[in-house]
Amino acid sequence: MNRLSAHLLLVAFLVAIHAGALVALLWYFSWGWLLVTIAAWQFFGLIGVSVCLHREITHRAFVSVLPLKIFHLTCALIAGQAGPVVWATVHRTHHKYADTERDIHSPREGFWAAHLGWLFQRQKRQRMTEFQQAPKDLTGDRLLQFFQTTHFPAQFLIFALLYAWGGWPAVCWLGCFRIALTLHSAWSINSLGHLYGYRNYDTPDQSTNSRVLAMFTGGEGFHNNHHQYPGAAKLSHRAGEVDPGFLYIKLMQSLGLISNLQTAARSSARVAQTDNASILQ
Ligand SMILES: [Zn+2]
Ligand SMILES: [Zn+2]
Repeated sequence: MNRLSAHLLLVAFLVAIHAGALVALLWYFSWGWLLVTIAAWQFFGLIGVSVCLHREITHRAFVSVLPLKIFHLTCALIAGQAGPVVWATVHRTHHKYADTERDIHSPREGFWAAHLGWLFQRQKRQRMTEFQQAPKDLTGDRLLQFFQTTHFPAQFLIFALLYAWGGWPAVCWLGCFRIALTLHSAWSINSLGHLYGYRNYDTPDQSTNSRVLAMFTGGEGFHNNHHQYPGAAKLSHRAGEVDPGFLYIKLMQSLGLISNLQTAARSSARVAQTDNASILQ
């Protein structure tokens, strides 16, 4: 696919999602739909994006038993952001070059460039070796490859099922409005999470912590803590910081479904010991 067609497809997708979200508010508004959509956004965002794509797949912060891993990846697929191999590759590259000119989404180039403009910088990604060949622990995992290749067609299936179940109101609310919320909350970590808030650690990047952002991103708002200890499963480090994603991980650990949990201390020890530090980034 050439650059123009890829950009047009991306623009069409983003316009369709936001137009559908607007139609939900203007034509199909009800408090019931709004509450169900917020609940679905929070559930699939927390399990699918924060716990699965970010902590489990990208940073290997814990290991879950196979049925739970499949459940996590299914939640990630429904969240509708990107397939796990692409998501993890993009995010590891962000850690590697955070807030340098090679960072693919840094507010150095402005708020909107970090928020969503970076999606259109395909040439920049193509010039970077990290995107020529995704890391082997991702490409060699057949389960991740399955979810990667089915990610796009599965979105059509989800929308078709929503239409069959609840007609256009379901498509506009649980399809478009929910995905718009998921996208903007995740993108806010890239933009707001490197611009506004407080810092517990003097990291070389501009990452910040925000309790408000953490509240609706499953704990991801503690982004400065995360840049300090990227391999750690827990993102809250100080009193008064609440990490809902970690509460879920601890619950699953207590049920014997999650093991090998990485703490801040263990993750920094692993960085020092391993040659393949990109796994932790
Ligand atoms: Zn960051
Ligand atoms: Zn990360």
